[in-house]
Amino acid sequence: MAPLNSSWLEISQGALERNVATFRGLLAQNACRLGGVLKGNAYGHGFKAVLPVLHPLLDVLYVIEPEDALAVRAFEASTHAPRKEVLVIGATEPDEAVALARAGVTLCVGDDGWRKNVEALRAARLPQPAKAHVHIDTGLSREGYAPGDIRRGFAFLADASDVLEVVGVFSHFANTEDVTEQEYALFQLENFRQGTDELRVLLGTTNVLEQHLAASAAALVLPQARLSVVRAGISLYGLWPSTETRLSARLTLPVVPTLSPALSWRCRSQIVKTLSPGSFVGYGCTWRCDVPTRIALLPVGYYDGLPRLVSGKAHVIVKGCRAPVLGRVMMNHIIVDVTRATHDDSPVVATLVGTDGTETLGVDTLSDWAQTINYEFVTRLGPHLKRTLTD
Ligand SMILES: *Cc1c(COP(=O)(O)O)cnc(C)c1O
Repeated sequence: MAPLNSSWLEISQGALERNVATFRGLLAQNACRLGGVLKGNAYGHGFKAVLPVLHPLLDVLYVIEPEDALAVRAFEASTHAPRKEVLVIGATEPDEAVALARAGVTLCVGDDGWRKNVEALRAARLPQPAKAHVHIDTGLSREGYAPGDIRRGFAFLADASDVLEVVGVFSHFANTEDVTEQEYALFQLENFRQGTDELRVLLGTTNVLEQHLAASAAALVLPQARLSVVRAGISLYGLWPSTETRLSARLTLPVVPTLSPALSWRCRSQIVKTLSPGSFVGYGCTWRCDVPTRIALLPVGYYDGLPRLVSGKAHVIVKGCRAPVLGRVMMNHIIVDVTRATHDDSPVVATLVGTDGTETLGVDTLSDWAQTINYEFVTRLGPHLKRTLTD
């Protein structure tokens, strides 16, 4: 039975599979592989819940936290699944770099802080060098060596060839999802080409380097950025990176790809009761009933990831009807008006995100109410919420 004191998340396996198929369809034209990003607790969808679904469908898995990469290896070992290419795109401490190298996880090198990781790798005397991708900063000014700095950065990398084998090169776009005209992305792409060429010369290699630059937005609307592989995050979970990206897709692609949101958020009512006219509802007495009002008390609040900013704007769906949130979002509760949605005081199920009957509430709508973006909304869904896979 679903819990009474907490909301829960349903993750649709079918939706995840359809999104993978959408990307496969797009990438086939460019013979590009599909990587998926599972950072931020798999964009709030639950790393543990989605890993068994996405692992067999992806070519590469990208995580930020070393422990997530090791969890992928543990999953593979326990299910006898083949080992996939796994990259840690976040920062790593020396002892983490050693553990990852031992587990056959590909490391991402992009700053001089890596010198101490190299020392640790050397001290560990691993049987073979760890695979590494070099991060180039092409214009985001986040991780990576800037193009003019590759030669200097490489001086230490060249010395590290006993413990690091460079097999790939990558970068990250700054504003592909913020615009419909991609001049800056094209500038970054050009920087990336130059940086990659420079790196190749410095490496003295003609080896094929794996190259990746595109996250969801570029993978969707900038075909020239589909290099060896893409790193799809938000859209793998069925969400558009932005309105601009969706508009770009409409303008530039022969057909707009279909994305299927994978996440639904629901809860059971804790109490249903009728308030008499004049009753105040919630903290601050910001709502007052002017007519008899049947309300449902729902066990979900800002602790769970429903921002307090949606107070006075949001509704949930109960029995296929919109039920407005009355008053303020509290830490563990909201109160919704179910006068029209239900006709007695028996318990109800409320949908915060997802479909019930003919009504649908999307993450994008909630993000707008909360004055944020879908990325922040989903990654702030509490890690304590139960996530279950559905068809
Ligand atoms: C988060 C991230 C991605 C995925 O971005 P989406 O817009 O969610 O697809 C890809 N690459 C890097 C380096 C990232 O940090």
